[in-house]
Amino acid sequence: MILEESSGKAVELLTQSVPSRTHAHPSLIRKSKLNLIRMNKNSSSLFLFCYNIVMEECIAVSACLLGVNCKYNGTNNYNSKLFELIKGKRVFVICPEVFSGLSTPRIPSEILNNRVINEKGKDVTSYFLDGRNKTLKFLKDAGVTKAILKDGSPSCGYSYIYDGTFTHTKVFDMGFTAKYLKENGIEVIFFNEG
Ligand code: SF4
Repeated sequence: MILEESSGKAVELLTQSVPSRTHAHPSLIRKSKLNLIRMNKNSSSLFLFCYNIVMEECIAVSACLLGVNCKYNGTNNYNSKLFELIKGKRVFVICPEVFSGLSTPRIPSEILNNRVINEKGKDVTSYFLDGRNKTLKFLKDAGVTKAILKDGSPSCGYSYIYDGTFTHTKVFDMGFTAKYLKENGIEVIFFNEG
């Protein structure tokens, strides 16, 4: 395990089997170590706008896309094509919901009237605000200007999210973190499985 300093924080180079210069927020380190190695090899077709982006020196990527089991249900959205594209790039692994202190697995949440409500009816907006703030700080401290985010999430969604009714109904809107990153000068590229 290799430790290095980035933006004043100790971060851990995740593993030799993943993109060679991968950095993670401390809250993701344990999940990443455990899960990046056992990847889902069955990724389906994808909707990819990010080829030019991954050629940049530094990018942030939603952790679940890289195989970290940080989704609400304890699984991931690993995509092998994305993984191949970012191999060798300097990647900052982010998960706003983990940054916020929410547990994994956790009760799914959706945005309704600019609040985040979980499936049990609890208002969890404060966690999502905290997660977006921590994500922005992490990326600004590291000088990251581009982020590839998993679409559809109440945090990372960019071209769509779900409408707050938990009926799998999509609406054209952004998740809290995606919107906040965009408002603060981070270029966001959404990533979707077809
Ligand atoms: S979509 Fe974003 S918030 Fe949700 S699990 Fe993936 S990285 Fe975390």
